[in-house]
Amino acid sequence: MTTKELEEKLTYKKKSAWKDDLKEIMDYAEGYKTFLGENKTERECVDWAIKTAELNGFKNIEQVKTVKPGDKLYRQHHNKCVVLFVVGKDDISEGMNLCASHIDSPRLDLKQVPLYEDTNQAVLKTHYYGGIKKYQWTTLPLAMHGVIFDKEGKKHSFALGENPDEPVFFISELLIHLSGEQMARPATKAVVAEQLNIIVGHIPLDDEDAKESVKLNTLRILNEQYGITEEDFLSAEIEFVPVEKPRDVGFDKGMIVAYGHDDRVCAYPAFSALMEMKDPKRTTVCVLADKEEIGSVGSTGLNSRFFENAVNELTHLIDKQEGTYLARKAMENSYVLSMDVNACLDGNYPDAFEKRNAAIAGYGTVLTKYTGHGGKSGSNDANSEYIHKLVKLFNENGIVFQTGEIGKVDLGGGGTVALYLASYGANVVDMGVGVLSMHAPYELISKADLYSTYKASKVFYSIED
Ligand SMILES: [Zn+2]
Repeated sequence: MTTKELEEKLTYKKKSAWKDDLKEIMDYAEGYKTFLGENKTERECVDWAIKTAELNGFKNIEQVKTVKPGDKLYRQHHNKCVVLFVVGKDDISEGMNLCASHIDSPRLDLKQVPLYEDTNQAVLKTHYYGGIKKYQWTTLPLAMHGVIFDKEGKKHSFALGENPDEPVFFISELLIHLSGEQMARPATKAVVAEQLNIIVGHIPLDDEDAKESVKLNTLRILNEQYGITEEDFLSAEIEFVPVEKPRDVGFDKGMIVAYGHDDRVCAYPAFSALMEMKDPKRTTVCVLADKEEIGSVGSTGLNSRFFENAVNELTHLIDKQEGTYLARKAMENSYVLSMDVNACLDGNYPDAFEKRNAAIAGYGTVLTKYTGHGGKSGSNDANSEYIHKLVKLFNENGIVFQTGEIGKVDLGGGGTVALYLASYGANVVDMGVGVLSMHAPYELISKADLYSTYKASKVFYSIED
C-alpha cells in the first residue's frame, strides 16, 4: 500500500459540507433567513410553528379523539413551547425519534416597573436574559417585542421597530473621549447591568408645570395608541432585540449574520424536516422549548413536565388503559437529538479552543458527545453505542458531519437540554450547527452547516429500529 492509500484508509479527517448541492444549500438558507427575520421571540416562533404545521396537516392534540399511524399532531404550552408528533406504524412503546431544540435567545427583558425620566429622556430599565457580554448590547438600534395586557384584559402584541417606518430604541454608551477609566476596567465591568437602560422618548408635554413631562408624554402616546398605562407594565412580557434582519456574509454569500441563530438555527431544520415526514415507522417528534438560556427552568423549559404530559396525552389516545405505561416506555426507548449550537473555532481567538476537537464552520453539523463544565459537570455524556449508530447512519446516507467541543476544557463551558431528556432513560446526544460569536447581538453561521443539520435531522427521523 502506498503512503497515500494508508493515510486514506487509516486516518480521520473532517470533510467539507460544501460538497453538497450548492443550489440546494443556498435555497434552503433563504427559507431560514425569512423565518429568523420574522420570528425573534419564543412566542413568535411558537405562533409561526403552529401556523406552518396546520398548513401541513397537523392538528391540535386537544381536539382529536382517536389517532392512527400517519396522524400529525401538536400540543403547545403557554404560547412559548410546542411539541409536534407524526405518529408511527410501530407500537409507540418501542420508542420515538425525537429532535429537541430551543427557541429562546439571549436578549434584554424589561423590569416590572421600568419607566423613568432622566436627562430629558424617557428610559426603560432592563434585566438581561441569558449569558451576554453587556458591553456588546449598547449603541445598537433595538426593536421591542412581546405582550402587554391592558386594564380590560386585552392582549397587545408588539413587534415594534422591525419596519423601516417604525421607531427603534437605543442604549447609550460613554464616548471614547471620556473612557480612560472605563477602558482600564475588566470587560465584565466596562458596562454593568444597571446601565442597560433603553431610551424610548424625548419630547416633553407642552406644560411647564408638569413634572417628568417626557415620561408623561411617552405614557400619553402609549395610552393613545394601545390603551395601556404604566401599571400595565407590571404584568407585561417585553423583550428588546437587535433590529437588523439576517444578512448574507462574504462575496460568496456563504454565511449568515443574524440575531438569534442560537438556537433557531437548529429549531428550523428540526422543524422543517418533520414537516416532510410521511407515515414513519417510529413515531417522530420535534420539541421547540423555551428557557434553555436560563437553565431549561420554568413551566415552558424542558425541565418541566410539559413534554412528558404531551407524550402521555398521545399514548392515552392510543390506549386509555395502558397510556401512562406506554408513555414511560416510549420515552425510555427513544432516540433523541438534543439539537443545540456548538462553538466554532474562531481564527481571531485560537487560544480559547483545542483545535483538534473544535468544530469548524463549513464542515457540517456538529455531533457533541458531552457539554458541561470542568470534568463534564452538568452534561449528558452520550453512550458509545448510540453515537456509533448515528455515525454509521450519517456515513451511510452521505451526511457530512463533524464532532465538537465548546473550547479548552478548563476555560468555560455550556449546557443544553440533553440531560433533561436523558432523565427519562432515553439515548440522547447533542447535535447542531456551529456558531461564531455565540450570544453576541449578531451571530454568524455557515449555510452549508445549516443544510447538513437539516439533512441529518431528516435521516434521523427515519431511523427504523
Ligand atoms: Zn445559547
